[in-house]
Amino acid sequence: MPEGELSPEGVYLDDQSGWYPVTAEEIRGFRLAVSAPDGWQVLSAGRRDEAPDAITWHSDRPQQALYLVGGPYHRHHRREGNLTLSVWLLHDDPALARRYLAPMGEYIRHYSELIGPYPYAKFAVVENRWPTGLGMPSFTLLGSQVLRLPFIPYTSLPHEILHNWWGNGVWVDYRKGNWSEGLTAYLADHWMKERQGKGVEYRLRALQRYSNFAARGDDMPLLSFVSRHDDASQSVGYSKSLMFFHMLRRRLGDEAFDAGLRRLWREYRFRRIGFQRAVEALVGDRPEVLRDFLPWLERTGAPRLDVTEVSSTPAPPGHRLAFVLSQSGTEPYTLEVPVAVTLSDGQVHRDQVRLERARQRFTLSLPSRPLRLRIDPEYDLLRYLDPSEQPPVLSLLFGGKTWLVLPTSAPDQEKAAWERLARAWQRRYPNL
Ligand SMILES: [Zn+2]
Repeated sequence: MPEGELSPEGVYLDDQSGWYPVTAEEIRGFRLAVSAPDGWQVLSAGRRDEAPDAITWHSDRPQQALYLVGGPYHRHHRREGNLTLSVWLLHDDPALARRYLAPMGEYIRHYSELIGPYPYAKFAVVENRWPTGLGMPSFTLLGSQVLRLPFIPYTSLPHEILHNWWGNGVWVDYRKGNWSEGLTAYLADHWMKERQGKGVEYRLRALQRYSNFAARGDDMPLLSFVSRHDDASQSVGYSKSLMFFHMLRRRLGDEAFDAGLRRLWREYRFRRIGFQRAVEALVGDRPEVLRDFLPWLERTGAPRLDVTEVSSTPAPPGHRLAFVLSQSGTEPYTLEVPVAVTLSDGQVHRDQVRLERARQRFTLSLPSRPLRLRIDPEYDLLRYLDPSEQPPVLSLLFGGKTWLVLPTSAPDQEKAAWERLARAWQRRYPNL
């Protein structure tokens, strides 16, 4: 994607294009009048008004940047209350437009209720000639191919809509850590799966990506994440970060966490803040929670959990289960560790233990004989996975230095196919 484009195919201008004077003053609002060639549509943030000789876009919300996107678009739209929802396509496809228009209103309603009222008069999904997935204030630019993938209305769409609150609403101070991707991924991508009952699988995959890509020397503190540029940085800025917010929600409880989201929005919308300030706003007046969670922002790595010295003894009328839980690889964190014990009568006893040191002994009183002990069975903790917890996935190989051995005596055509595959992998995974 270029920093600016003015061509017969279309226009794209942003804050890097130098198309408006940039001063130290923040943009408190704007009004933009554009006349475009016949058959073209132009778009910016905010509200659209049509005059005989020009289209205007305007907003009284502060902006970090001004955008202008234009081209031979086909515009589809519908109203929902005071809101205009629209889809802008370069290659017209009314059925595709309907697939986006249908769920948009629901997402905006959900986040408005969860966090605070949506700050704009419209939201638009805009087809882009370049392969992007970008969230701008009140619109998103999705590449032509991405836009046509069947799952995007249920994955990228809620994510980009939520960036109107996190990232484009409360702004990110990149020198102090980009908190917005993790929080957005947690409240959009994870939420979409969680409400289908697939939260556990989603978190397992997040921990897999983090364990396989970051753990081999590319990990970094959450405060150091600016933006994704490869699998390792993505696994920190998205996967590790969303697991951090998941732990925080479990610790605070849903009600206090949701109140924290509203506080973050109320206190900091259209202001620039770093990771710590965002966490402080979410946590509110709970210094003991901050004390346990702030170390995650500054430290590299995550704990590996191990359980040893497991024993069970009859303690009428039930049984007593003892075990030692240890965390290694980092300075000890305070972790509320969920445990699940399968009992001889088939019941599952769920509990939680508080691990504060590198190694700690716990005992549980159980109503009957324990058969199986599982630690963090629903992947609620930010940690490096044990290899035994992972189904075989390619990221297990590609996260670190790996040799590929190709069949040199294979027929020429087959050999060429292997080499093509190897080169394609090599482009994506530099350690191969
Ligand atoms: Zn994002």
